[in-house]
Amino acid sequence: MARHYYIETMGCQMNEYDSDHLSRILENSGYMPASEPEEADFVLLNTCSVREKAEQKALSRLGRLVALKKKNPRLLLAVAGCVAQQRGMDLFDRFPALDLVLGPREIGRFSEILRKTENGGTRIAAVNVHRTPVSFMGRFEYFRNSVKAYITIMEGCNNFCSYCIVPYVRGREASRSPQKILEEARELVVQGAKEITLLGQNVNSYVYEKTRFPRLLQRMNEIKGLHRIRFTTSHPKDLSAELIQCFAQLDKLCSHIHLPFQAGSNRVLKAMKRGYTREKYMDLIHALRQTQPEIALTSDVMVGFPGETEDDFEQTLDLIRNIEFDNLFSFKYSDREGTPAARMQEKISEDQKIERLTRLQGLQRGITLRKNKDLVGKNVEVLVEGTSKKGQQLTGRTETNKVVNFIRDNAYINKLINVKIKRASFNSLFGELT
Ligand code: SAM
Ligand code: SF4
Repeated sequence: MARHYYIETMGCQMNEYDSDHLSRILENSGYMPASEPEEADFVLLNTCSVREKAEQKALSRLGRLVALKKKNPRLLLAVAGCVAQQRGMDLFDRFPALDLVLGPREIGRFSEILRKTENGGTRIAAVNVHRTPVSFMGRFEYFRNSVKAYITIMEGCNNFCSYCIVPYVRGREASRSPQKILEEARELVVQGAKEITLLGQNVNSYVYEKTRFPRLLQRMNEIKGLHRIRFTTSHPKDLSAELIQCFAQLDKLCSHIHLPFQAGSNRVLKAMKRGYTREKYMDLIHALRQTQPEIALTSDVMVGFPGETEDDFEQTLDLIRNIEFDNLFSFKYSDREGTPAARMQEKISEDQKIERLTRLQGLQRGITLRKNKDLVGKNVEVLVEGTSKKGQQLTGRTETNKVVNFIRDNAYINKLINVKIKRASFNSLFGELT
């Protein structure tokens, strides 16, 4: 009888990419996908630990998955991702029923590890952070039915921002060869991809021998049949003038950049070890807008970093008012064990963090809504991805990464079409085919 697997992914797009790779290895090893964990013989939870809440969510989900083993003792249960890397063997003490702990840099050895796990007996904690990342291991047998595809081009981070766990769990920066990336991209286009997003923790610090990130983008832009190129996540300190120019020169590069600023006060930015000032960040935004006036800007920001005063927080709000981002991902700072910020004094109370986050999100809500409403009456190009969540409409994204819903038959799925925006809300736009 066929064996089934079930993978649940939490966290960032890099985890999505890793889960995709793990699925393929499982399928090559004779497993078929299951739609529910209850129906599977192998269940894997791919976790995130960047914030305390994400880690708690992963651990509580794991607790519920462990319960499945009571009903089906032959079930193999695995945990992967950053929680696996960070907690390692300790997870076996907390969840004795667990069969496998797999760190992000061990995914390249997964077929071998899977065989050992299936053969039973020894439980395995594979968490060597110094191994070659999975995406660097030979040609990637990539398959995506969708028009949107992702390629990891670099992994890890050397920046050690004082609050962040990523460099400890994902290891140091390593970039893939441009030949491999381009080969994979061409293959994805042959398989139907119209849009490719290049992924990395610090995607714009990509460098392989003499090839830097702007050169890689130029070569991606030459791929016939590819319509859109995106990249995420960029670090402000590595945003070169040459990369900014790419937004004017490369017709396939989408007019959108996600550029986390984290805080608007120079004192806090310094304590965070971000490597830029508020003024430098504003200069970058100015240069981006001069180069490409239509560019959409999104960012990450944190409230309640240790020692953040009301004045520091006001400077964050002021930066948001000045720049007017299209959208923001905003977080409450949380201590991550082993990071310098976790050892800092002057912690901000949970109530204070919630109060600041609410004010910040209220401000951004107004800006996002107004920017979306500015699009009413305009024509935009949409790459149609499928049906909307409610199922009655088609949905896609503009070049600036905004969600557009409209009513049409499914023949439009996977196509690039022109839509006139009729209505706008905070989350999405509603349009009609032109
Ligand atoms: N490399 C990206 C950069 O430099 O901005 C960010 C990657 S991180 C996985 C995603 C976001 O999580 C960060 O931009 C930050 O806002 C947030 N984050 C990271 N550590 C955090 C912490 N300890 N508490 C709260 N938010 C955190
Ligand atoms: Fe974390 Fe900073 Fe690296 Fe981003 S740049 S992953 S926030 S350490």
